[in-house]
Amino acid sequence: MNKVAPITERLYAAIPRGLAIAIPILADHASGAEIWDIDGRRYIDFAGGIGVLNVGHRHPRVVAAVEAQLRALTHACFQVTPYEPYIRLAERINEIAPISGAKKTIFLTTGAEAIENAVKIARCATGRPAIISFTGAFHGRTMMALALTGKVVPYKVGFAPFPAETYHVPFPDSYRGVSSRDSLDAIEALFKSSIEPSRVAAIIIEPVQGEGGFNVAPFEFLRELKALCVRHGIVMIADEIQSGFGRTGRMFAVEHASVEPDLIAIAKSLAGGFPLSGVVGRAEIMDSVAVGGLGGTYAGSPISCAAALAVLDVMRDENVLGRAERQGALVRSRLDTLRNDPRFACVGDVRGLGSMLAMELVKDRATKEPAPELAKKLTARAAERGLIVLTCGVYANVIRVLVPLVAPAELVEEGMSILEASLAEVI
Ligand code: PMP
Repeated sequence: MNKVAPITERLYAAIPRGLAIAIPILADHASGAEIWDIDGRRYIDFAGGIGVLNVGHRHPRVVAAVEAQLRALTHACFQVTPYEPYIRLAERINEIAPISGAKKTIFLTTGAEAIENAVKIARCATGRPAIISFTGAFHGRTMMALALTGKVVPYKVGFAPFPAETYHVPFPDSYRGVSSRDSLDAIEALFKSSIEPSRVAAIIIEPVQGEGGFNVAPFEFLRELKALCVRHGIVMIADEIQSGFGRTGRMFAVEHASVEPDLIAIAKSLAGGFPLSGVVGRAEIMDSVAVGGLGGTYAGSPISCAAALAVLDVMRDENVLGRAERQGALVRSRLDTLRNDPRFACVGDVRGLGSMLAMELVKDRATKEPAPELAKKLTARAAERGLIVLTCGVYANVIRVLVPLVAPAELVEEGMSILEASLAEVI
Protein backbone atom coordinates (compact mmCIF):
# COMPACT_ATOMS: atom_id res chain seq x y z
CA MET A 1 0.00 0.00 0.00
CA ASN A 2 1.12 3.54 -0.72
CA LYS A 3 2.13 5.03 2.63
CA VAL A 4 2.52 8.61 1.43
CA ALA A 5 -1.17 9.60 1.07
CA PRO A 6 -2.30 9.15 4.70
CA ILE A 7 0.82 10.90 5.99
CA THR A 8 0.41 13.93 3.71
CA GLU A 9 -3.14 14.25 5.08
CA ARG A 10 -1.69 14.40 8.60
CA LEU A 11 0.92 16.88 7.41
CA TYR A 12 -1.67 19.35 6.15
CA ALA A 13 -3.76 18.90 9.31
CA ALA A 14 -0.87 19.47 11.72
CA ILE A 15 1.27 22.09 9.99
CA PRO A 16 0.36 25.66 8.93
CA ARG A 17 -0.14 26.26 5.23
CA GLY A 18 2.38 29.12 5.29
CA LEU A 19 5.01 26.41 5.02
CA ALA A 20 4.71 25.63 1.31
CA ILE A 21 5.73 22.11 0.32
CA ALA A 22 7.57 22.00 -3.02
CA ILE A 23 7.53 18.24 -3.61
CA PRO A 24 4.90 16.40 -1.51
CA ILE A 25 6.72 13.12 -1.03
CA LEU A 26 8.00 11.82 2.29
CA ALA A 27 11.77 11.56 2.31
CA ASP A 28 12.97 8.47 4.15
CA HIS A 29 16.68 8.18 3.48
CA ALA A 30 19.26 9.63 1.14
CA SER A 31 22.78 9.14 -0.12
CA GLY A 32 24.95 11.22 -2.47
CA ALA A 33 22.52 12.80 -4.92
CA GLU A 34 19.61 10.39 -4.40
CA ILE A 35 16.63 10.34 -2.03
CA TRP A 36 14.25 7.46 -1.36
CA ASP A 37 10.71 8.05 -0.10
CA ILE A 38 8.92 5.94 2.52
CA ASP A 39 7.53 3.70 -0.22
CA GLY A 40 11.04 2.96 -1.47
CA ARG A 41 10.74 5.13 -4.60
CA ARG A 42 14.03 6.61 -5.66
CA TYR A 43 14.51 10.24 -6.71
CA ILE A 44 17.48 12.03 -8.19
CA ASP A 45 18.02 15.13 -6.07
CA PHE A 46 18.57 18.32 -8.08
CA ALA A 47 17.58 20.47 -5.07
CA GLY A 48 20.10 19.42 -2.43
CA GLY A 49 17.78 20.74 0.29
CA ILE A 50 18.09 24.16 -1.44
CA GLY A 51 21.80 24.23 -2.13
CA VAL A 52 22.95 22.69 1.15
CA LEU A 53 24.44 19.47 -0.16
CA ASN A 54 27.32 20.39 -2.46
CA VAL A 55 29.21 17.37 -1.04
CA GLY A 56 26.08 15.22 -1.20
CA HIS A 57 23.72 13.63 1.31
CA ARG A 58 25.46 11.98 4.25
CA HIS A 59 28.97 12.12 2.86
CA PRO A 60 30.80 9.31 4.73
CA ARG A 61 33.47 11.70 6.05
CA VAL A 62 30.86 14.18 7.26
CA VAL A 63 28.92 11.36 8.95
CA ALA A 64 32.11 10.02 10.59
CA ALA A 65 33.08 13.48 11.87
CA VAL A 66 29.61 14.03 13.29
CA GLU A 67 29.56 10.57 14.93
CA ALA A 68 32.89 11.28 16.60
CA GLN A 69 31.69 14.69 17.76
CA LEU A 70 28.45 13.16 19.11
CA ARG A 71 30.52 10.99 21.40
CA ALA A 72 32.55 13.97 22.68
CA LEU A 73 30.40 17.11 23.02
CA THR A 74 27.05 18.05 21.49
CA HIS A 75 26.38 21.39 23.14
CA ALA A 76 28.05 23.79 25.52
CA CYS A 77 27.21 27.20 24.01
CA PHE A 78 30.40 28.75 22.70
CA GLN A 79 29.89 31.90 24.80
CA VAL A 80 29.81 29.80 27.97
CA THR A 81 32.67 27.37 27.38
CA PRO A 82 34.40 27.50 23.98
CA TYR A 83 35.36 24.33 22.10
CA GLU A 84 38.09 23.69 19.58
CA PRO A 85 36.13 22.68 16.44
CA TYR A 86 34.59 26.19 16.31
CA ILE A 87 38.02 27.84 16.60
CA ARG A 88 39.58 25.49 14.04
CA LEU A 89 36.72 26.14 11.63
CA ALA A 90 37.01 29.91 12.09
CA GLU A 91 40.72 29.64 11.29
CA ARG A 92 39.98 27.66 8.13
CA ILE A 93 37.26 30.03 6.97
CA ASN A 94 39.60 32.99 7.62
CA GLU A 95 42.19 31.22 5.45
CA ILE A 96 39.90 30.61 2.47
CA ALA A 97 37.78 33.78 2.49
CA PRO A 98 38.73 35.96 -0.50
CA ILE A 99 39.52 39.02 1.63
CA SER A 100 43.06 40.26 2.18
CA GLY A 101 44.55 41.15 5.55
CA ALA A 102 43.46 40.02 8.99
CA LYS A 103 40.06 38.28 9.10
CA LYS A 104 37.68 37.00 11.74
CA THR A 105 34.66 34.69 11.62
CA ILE A 106 31.60 34.28 13.81
CA PHE A 107 29.33 31.25 13.49
CA LEU A 108 25.55 31.27 13.79
CA THR A 109 22.82 28.84 12.87
CA THR A 110 20.70 29.94 9.89
CA GLY A 111 21.34 31.98 6.79
CA ALA A 112 18.93 34.68 7.92
CA GLU A 113 20.80 34.93 11.21
CA ALA A 114 24.06 35.43 9.32
CA ILE A 115 22.46 38.32 7.43
CA GLU A 116 21.12 39.87 10.66
CA ASN A 117 24.60 39.70 12.16
CA ALA A 118 26.32 41.09 9.06
CA VAL A 119 23.96 44.08 9.26
CA LYS A 120 24.58 44.54 12.99
CA ILE A 121 28.35 44.43 12.44
CA ALA A 122 28.24 46.85 9.48
CA ARG A 123 26.17 49.32 11.51
CA CYS A 124 28.57 49.16 14.47
CA ALA A 125 31.59 49.53 12.21
CA THR A 126 30.23 52.59 10.41
CA GLY A 127 27.90 54.14 12.97
CA ARG A 128 25.41 54.50 10.08
CA PRO A 129 21.85 53.19 9.75
CA ALA A 130 20.96 52.49 6.11
CA ILE A 131 21.34 49.27 4.15
CA ILE A 132 20.93 49.00 0.37
CA SER A 133 19.92 45.71 -1.25
CA PHE A 134 18.65 44.65 -4.66
CA THR A 135 15.40 43.78 -6.36
CA GLY A 136 14.98 40.01 -6.59
CA ALA A 137 17.29 39.50 -3.61
CA PHE A 138 16.57 36.81 -1.05
CA HIS A 139 18.31 37.19 2.30
CA GLY A 140 16.04 35.20 4.63
CA ARG A 141 12.81 35.28 6.60
CA THR A 142 13.67 37.11 9.82
CA MET A 143 12.52 40.72 9.87
CA MET A 144 15.71 42.51 8.80
CA ALA A 145 16.63 39.82 6.28
CA LEU A 146 13.08 40.03 4.97
CA ALA A 147 13.23 43.82 4.76
CA LEU A 148 16.31 43.43 2.54
CA THR A 149 14.66 40.72 0.44
CA GLY A 150 13.50 42.04 -2.91
CA LYS A 151 10.55 39.80 -3.67
CA VAL A 152 7.15 40.47 -2.12
CA VAL A 153 5.07 37.37 -2.98
CA PRO A 154 5.16 35.09 -1.06
CA TYR A 155 7.87 36.15 1.37
CA LYS A 156 6.80 39.61 2.57
CA VAL A 157 3.01 39.52 2.28
CA GLY A 158 1.27 40.48 5.52
CA PHE A 159 4.42 40.92 7.60
CA ALA A 160 4.93 44.71 7.52
CA PRO A 161 6.13 46.91 9.11
CA PHE A 162 9.73 46.01 8.41
CA PRO A 163 12.79 47.64 10.01
CA ALA A 164 13.42 51.14 8.71
CA GLU A 165 16.35 52.41 6.63
CA THR A 166 16.43 49.74 3.95
CA TYR A 167 16.46 50.64 0.25
CA HIS A 168 16.24 48.54 -2.90
CA VAL A 169 17.90 49.20 -6.26
CA PRO A 170 17.53 47.12 -9.45
CA PHE A 171 19.79 44.06 -9.80
CA PRO A 172 21.42 43.93 -13.25
CA ASP A 173 19.42 41.58 -15.47
CA SER A 174 20.63 41.36 -19.06
CA TYR A 175 17.72 39.08 -20.06
CA ARG A 176 15.15 41.65 -18.97
CA GLY A 177 17.08 44.71 -20.03
CA VAL A 178 18.63 46.06 -16.83
CA SER A 179 22.28 46.93 -17.47
CA SER A 180 25.03 47.31 -14.90
CA ARG A 181 24.98 51.03 -15.72
CA ASP A 182 21.23 51.17 -14.92
CA SER A 183 21.89 49.60 -11.51
CA LEU A 184 24.78 51.92 -10.69
CA ASP A 185 22.74 54.93 -11.85
CA ALA A 186 19.90 53.78 -9.58
CA ILE A 187 22.25 53.85 -6.60
CA GLU A 188 23.40 57.36 -7.52
CA ALA A 189 19.75 58.39 -7.92
CA LEU A 190 18.98 56.92 -4.50
CA PHE A 191 21.77 59.04 -3.04
CA LYS A 192 20.03 62.09 -4.53
CA SER A 193 16.42 61.18 -3.77
CA SER A 194 16.37 59.25 -0.51
CA ILE A 195 19.55 58.80 1.50
CA GLU A 196 22.93 60.46 1.51
CA PRO A 197 25.81 57.98 1.08
CA SER A 198 27.37 59.08 4.37
CA ARG A 199 24.38 57.48 6.15
CA VAL A 200 24.66 54.14 4.32
CA ALA A 201 26.24 51.39 6.43
CA ALA A 202 26.26 48.62 3.85
CA ILE A 203 25.32 47.40 0.41
CA ILE A 204 24.42 43.72 0.40
CA ILE A 205 24.46 41.63 -2.77
CA GLU A 206 24.25 38.00 -3.85
CA PRO A 207 26.95 37.66 -6.54
CA VAL A 208 24.59 35.13 -8.13
CA GLN A 209 21.00 35.58 -6.99
CA GLY A 210 19.49 32.33 -5.71
CA GLU A 211 15.77 32.56 -5.04
CA GLY A 212 15.65 35.59 -7.35
CA GLY A 213 16.33 33.46 -10.44
CA PHE A 214 20.03 32.64 -10.74
CA ASN A 215 20.87 36.07 -12.14
CA VAL A 216 24.62 36.52 -12.30
CA ALA A 217 25.95 39.94 -11.29
CA PRO A 218 28.34 41.00 -14.08
CA PHE A 219 31.91 40.86 -12.75
CA GLU A 220 32.61 44.45 -13.82
CA PHE A 221 29.47 45.53 -11.96
CA LEU A 222 30.72 43.90 -8.75
CA ARG A 223 34.04 45.69 -9.16
CA GLU A 224 32.30 49.05 -9.67
CA LEU A 225 30.06 48.39 -6.69
CA LYS A 226 33.13 47.72 -4.58
CA ALA A 227 34.74 50.96 -5.80
CA LEU A 228 31.55 52.86 -4.94
CA CYS A 229 31.58 51.31 -1.45
CA VAL A 230 35.22 52.31 -0.95
CA ARG A 231 34.48 55.83 -2.19
CA HIS A 232 31.73 56.35 0.37
CA GLY A 233 33.03 54.27 3.29
CA ILE A 234 30.20 51.75 2.84
CA VAL A 235 30.65 48.12 3.94
CA MET A 236 30.21 45.66 1.06
CA ILE A 237 28.46 42.50 2.17
CA ALA A 238 28.41 39.50 -0.16
CA ASP A 239 25.60 37.03 0.57
CA GLU A 240 27.24 33.77 -0.53
CA ILE A 241 24.78 31.61 1.35
CA GLN A 242 23.61 29.85 -1.82
CA SER A 243 26.52 30.60 -4.17
CA GLY A 244 29.33 29.64 -1.80
CA PHE A 245 31.32 26.47 -1.14
CA GLY A 246 32.06 25.50 -4.69
CA ARG A 247 28.67 25.87 -6.35
CA THR A 248 30.01 28.26 -9.00
CA GLY A 249 33.32 26.41 -9.48
CA ARG A 250 35.18 28.62 -7.00
CA MET A 251 34.96 28.47 -3.24
CA PHE A 252 33.10 31.81 -3.33
CA ALA A 253 31.38 33.34 -6.36
CA VAL A 254 32.99 36.77 -5.84
CA GLU A 255 36.34 35.18 -6.68
CA HIS A 256 35.29 35.09 -10.35
CA ALA A 257 35.16 38.89 -10.28
CA SER A 258 38.34 39.30 -8.20
CA VAL A 259 36.33 41.43 -5.79
CA GLU A 260 37.02 41.52 -2.08
CA PRO A 261 33.87 42.15 -0.04
CA ASP A 262 34.28 43.48 3.51
CA LEU A 263 31.94 40.85 4.95
CA ILE A 264 30.70 37.53 3.55
CA ALA A 265 27.61 35.72 4.82
CA ILE A 266 27.94 31.94 4.60
CA ALA A 267 25.60 29.01 5.38
CA LYS A 268 23.96 26.09 3.52
CA SER A 269 26.71 23.89 1.96
CA LEU A 270 29.18 25.05 4.62
CA ALA A 271 28.18 22.16 6.88
CA GLY A 272 26.88 19.51 4.47
CA GLY A 273 23.37 19.22 5.94
CA PHE A 274 23.87 20.45 9.49
CA PRO A 275 22.57 23.85 10.60
CA LEU A 276 25.43 26.31 10.52
CA SER A 277 25.98 29.81 9.18
CA GLY A 278 28.55 32.49 9.68
CA VAL A 279 29.93 35.89 8.86
CA VAL A 280 33.56 36.24 7.84
CA GLY A 281 35.12 39.63 7.34
CA ARG A 282 37.88 42.11 7.81
CA ALA A 283 39.04 41.89 11.42
CA GLU A 284 38.67 45.57 12.22
CA ILE A 285 35.06 45.53 11.02
CA MET A 286 34.24 42.26 12.80
CA ASP A 287 35.77 43.64 16.02
CA SER A 288 33.74 46.85 15.97
CA VAL A 289 30.93 45.27 18.00
CA ALA A 290 31.29 45.68 21.77
CA VAL A 291 31.87 42.63 23.98
CA GLY A 292 28.61 40.69 24.37
CA GLY A 293 26.95 42.23 21.30
CA LEU A 294 27.03 39.04 19.25
CA GLY A 295 26.14 35.42 19.90
CA GLY A 296 23.36 32.85 20.17
CA THR A 297 22.64 29.76 22.26
CA TYR A 298 23.10 27.27 19.42
CA ALA A 299 25.34 29.46 17.26
CA GLY A 300 28.24 27.40 15.94
CA SER A 301 27.08 24.08 17.39
CA PRO A 302 29.98 21.64 17.89
CA ILE A 303 28.20 19.04 15.74
CA SER A 304 27.80 21.50 12.86
CA CYS A 305 31.39 22.74 13.19
CA ALA A 306 32.68 19.16 13.04
CA ALA A 307 30.55 18.57 9.93
CA ALA A 308 31.87 21.75 8.31
CA LEU A 309 35.51 20.81 8.96
CA ALA A 310 34.83 17.51 7.20
CA VAL A 311 33.11 19.33 4.31
CA LEU A 312 36.23 21.48 3.79
CA ASP A 313 38.42 18.36 3.84
CA VAL A 314 36.18 16.69 1.27
CA MET A 315 36.24 19.78 -0.94
CA ARG A 316 40.04 19.77 -0.89
CA ASP A 317 40.63 16.01 -1.16
CA GLU A 318 37.95 15.23 -3.75
CA ASN A 319 38.63 18.20 -6.02
CA VAL A 320 35.06 19.42 -5.61
CA LEU A 321 35.81 22.73 -7.35
CA GLY A 322 37.09 20.93 -10.46
CA ARG A 323 34.06 18.66 -10.37
CA ALA A 324 31.76 21.68 -10.12
CA GLU A 325 33.26 23.07 -13.31
CA ARG A 326 32.85 19.77 -15.17
CA GLN A 327 29.33 19.31 -13.86
CA GLY A 328 28.51 22.88 -14.80
CA ALA A 329 29.68 22.30 -18.37
CA LEU A 330 27.53 19.17 -18.60
CA VAL A 331 24.38 20.76 -17.18
CA ARG A 332 24.84 23.90 -19.27
CA SER A 333 25.19 21.93 -22.48
CA ARG A 334 22.01 19.95 -21.68
CA LEU A 335 20.12 23.18 -20.89
CA ASP A 336 21.46 24.81 -24.08
CA THR A 337 20.24 21.79 -26.03
CA LEU A 338 16.75 22.40 -24.63
CA ARG A 339 17.03 26.09 -25.45
CA ASN A 340 17.97 25.26 -29.06
CA ASP A 341 15.34 22.55 -29.54
CA PRO A 342 12.45 23.90 -31.68
CA ARG A 343 10.01 21.96 -29.46
CA PHE A 344 11.01 24.09 -26.49
CA ALA A 345 10.32 27.70 -27.48
CA CYS A 346 9.26 28.05 -23.83
CA VAL A 347 12.92 28.08 -22.73
CA GLY A 348 13.61 31.80 -22.87
CA ASP A 349 17.00 31.90 -21.20
CA VAL A 350 19.73 29.65 -19.85
CA ARG A 351 22.09 31.25 -17.34
CA GLY A 352 24.24 30.83 -14.30
CA LEU A 353 27.82 30.43 -13.20
CA GLY A 354 29.77 27.20 -12.77
CA SER A 355 27.29 24.62 -11.58
CA MET A 356 24.74 27.20 -10.38
CA LEU A 357 22.55 26.98 -13.48
CA ALA A 358 18.96 27.57 -14.46
CA MET A 359 16.54 28.01 -17.34
CA GLU A 360 13.80 30.61 -17.49
CA LEU A 361 10.44 29.51 -18.89
CA VAL A 362 8.36 32.00 -20.89
CA LYS A 363 5.09 31.98 -22.82
CA ASP A 364 6.70 33.75 -25.75
CA ARG A 365 10.36 34.36 -26.47
CA ALA A 366 9.66 37.78 -27.98
CA THR A 367 7.55 39.20 -25.14
CA LYS A 368 9.36 37.15 -22.44
CA GLU A 369 6.06 36.81 -20.61
CA PRO A 370 6.84 34.53 -17.65
CA ALA A 371 5.36 31.02 -17.54
CA PRO A 372 5.14 30.16 -13.81
CA GLU A 373 2.31 27.62 -14.32
CA LEU A 374 4.49 25.71 -16.78
CA ALA A 375 7.38 25.73 -14.28
CA LYS A 376 5.07 24.34 -11.61
CA LYS A 377 3.76 21.62 -13.92
CA LEU A 378 7.31 20.74 -14.91
CA THR A 379 8.57 20.25 -11.36
CA ALA A 380 5.46 18.18 -10.51
CA ARG A 381 5.87 15.99 -13.60
CA ALA A 382 9.60 15.61 -12.95
CA ALA A 383 8.84 14.44 -9.40
CA GLU A 384 6.43 11.82 -10.78
CA ARG A 385 9.27 10.65 -13.00
CA GLY A 386 11.76 10.56 -10.10
CA LEU A 387 13.53 13.93 -10.20
CA ILE A 388 13.42 16.53 -7.45
CA VAL A 389 13.99 19.96 -8.97
CA LEU A 390 13.02 23.44 -7.74
CA THR A 391 11.74 26.64 -9.24
CA CYS A 392 12.94 30.14 -8.37
CA GLY A 393 12.76 33.62 -9.84
CA VAL A 394 10.84 36.80 -9.13
CA TYR A 395 8.13 35.39 -11.45
CA ALA A 396 8.52 31.80 -10.15
CA ASN A 397 9.24 30.67 -13.71
CA VAL A 398 12.88 29.62 -13.42
CA ILE A 399 14.00 26.00 -13.08
CA ARG A 400 17.25 25.76 -11.12
CA VAL A 401 19.74 22.96 -10.76
CA LEU A 402 21.46 22.52 -7.39
CA VAL A 403 22.53 18.88 -7.74
CA PRO A 404 25.32 17.83 -5.34
CA LEU A 405 28.67 18.62 -6.93
CA VAL A 406 29.91 15.11 -6.18
CA ALA A 407 27.11 13.46 -8.22
CA PRO A 408 28.46 11.09 -10.87
CA ALA A 409 28.05 12.41 -14.44
CA GLU A 410 25.71 9.50 -15.35
CA LEU A 411 23.33 10.48 -12.56
CA VAL A 412 23.34 14.12 -13.65
CA GLU A 413 22.69 12.99 -17.25
CA GLU A 414 19.83 10.79 -16.06
CA GLY A 415 18.32 13.71 -14.16
CA MET A 416 18.66 16.03 -17.16
CA SER A 417 16.98 13.40 -19.36
CA ILE A 418 14.07 13.22 -16.90
CA LEU A 419 13.85 17.01 -16.98
CA GLU A 420 13.78 17.00 -20.79
CA ALA A 421 11.16 14.22 -21.02
CA SER A 422 9.03 15.95 -18.40
CA LEU A 423 9.20 19.26 -20.26
CA ALA A 424 8.14 17.53 -23.49
CA GLU A 425 5.12 16.16 -21.62
CA VAL A 426 3.94 19.38 -20.01
CA ILE A 427 4.30 21.92 -22.84
N1 PMP B 1 20.51 34.23 1.60
C1 PMP B 1 20.45 33.47 0.50
C2 PMP B 1 21.19 33.89 -0.72
C3 PMP B 1 19.68 32.30 0.49
O1 PMP B 1 19.62 31.55 -0.61
C4 PMP B 1 19.00 31.91 1.67
C5 PMP B 1 18.16 30.65 1.73
N2 PMP B 1 17.56 30.25 0.56
C6 PMP B 1 19.11 32.74 2.79
C7 PMP B 1 19.87 33.89 2.72
C8 PMP B 1 18.41 32.40 4.09
O2 PMP B 1 18.94 31.25 4.66
P1 PMP B 1 18.13 30.44 5.79
O3 PMP B 1 16.92 29.85 5.10
O4 PMP B 1 19.09 29.40 6.28
O5 PMP B 1 17.74 31.42 6.83
